[in-house]
Amino acid sequence: MTTIRLYHIDAYCRRFEATIVEALEYAGRPAVRLDATAFYPTSGGQPHDVGTLNGVAVEDVLERDGDILHVLASALAPGPVSGEVDWARRVDHMQQHTGQHILSQAFDRTLGAETVSFHLGGEASTIDLDVPALDRDAVARVEDEANAIVMADVPVTVDAYDHAALSGVALRRVPEVDGPVRVVRIGDYDACACGGTHVRATGEVGAIHVRRWERRRGQVRVEFLCGWRALHDHRRQSILLQEATALLSVGNPDLPEAIARLAASEAEARRQVQALQRRVLDSELARWRSAGQPVGAWRLVHGALEGLDAPAMRYLAQHLIEEPGTVVLFAVREPSPQLCFARSQDVPLDAARLLREAASGFGGRGGGQPHMAQGGGVAADDLSAVLDAAVARVQAAA
Ligand SMILES: [Zn+2]
Repeated sequence: MTTIRLYHIDAYCRRFEATIVEALEYAGRPAVRLDATAFYPTSGGQPHDVGTLNGVAVEDVLERDGDILHVLASALAPGPVSGEVDWARRVDHMQQHTGQHILSQAFDRTLGAETVSFHLGGEASTIDLDVPALDRDAVARVEDEANAIVMADVPVTVDAYDHAALSGVALRRVPEVDGPVRVVRIGDYDACACGGTHVRATGEVGAIHVRRWERRRGQVRVEFLCGWRALHDHRRQSILLQEATALLSVGNPDLPEAIARLAASEAEARRQVQALQRRVLDSELARWRSAGQPVGAWRLVHGALEGLDAPAMRYLAQHLIEEPGTVVLFAVREPSPQLCFARSQDVPLDAARLLREAASGFGGRGGGQPHMAQGGGVAADDLSAVLDAAVARVQAAA
């Protein structure tokens, strides 16, 4: 015996009496079959209902072999049962689903864009349209038409047809199922075969809002919100806009221009900072070039750099070793202690090995190439000692 689908007889049935005809397990969870149910199972792009059976939470509802399974929080035995559908969730689904019928017809009539698929999501819903692109003006026309149908409060009716009798019915989409087909009509605006749940008049859908769209494999995916979702989204967007305009002290229409100005001035400030940094580094470079001390045939440049970071230290070392016969032993303290040892191509010294040997006694580590190595892990108070140890090794090797 297949379950009688009360939601098809009356989509507004939220409390019902029925009988549990079978108690079973589904994927390790307790489940029941009823002789009749108002719980809608996940199908046709519409998610399942939730609610209670004799006070036990119904967590999932699904179709299996043409029958309906209710997955429960805890087991129930066969016998009489009182069911209650979570009405806020169902109303939301009926708003989104009926809104989708209207919106799909509006896209079809206004742009000749056919709906290929529909998905009702937890936050927003989507339809995929068989058009390569959409523009803002076209979407606005479609949105206006759809909302005109809402405001006309057109009746939504459902009729069941034998498959054979369907040939005489003009449908937006022809169903792929066998057996009786439910045709959902929105006045004479739209007719569509659909097994979902719908409101009884378009006024109950509330506002229909297309939030965004994107190209997707030669089609366009349109994201939309209906009813309470559209209102709540509008409220959130208004708060965001208020916060953004207050931060920038501008009115709503001036917001894009204010953000563009801010981005331009930020880019200019960054350019100026970079130019100043370059000037600081060039003057540091000149200072360190003249600070080299002779060690054998080499010139040794060493010290802790004040107020410079690791990238600046690398920049200085790279340029100092362009001069033949140069050995560089540098350290920085901020934001964390770092070392950089380097030497010119003509100096037969392994900078990576030198760094390992000088720093290892202080918990340091690092690596690199024979001409340039970097490391860290040394405490700020030990940097001078590490540099002294490295200087001693360079003097011994010179
Ligand atoms: Zn439908």
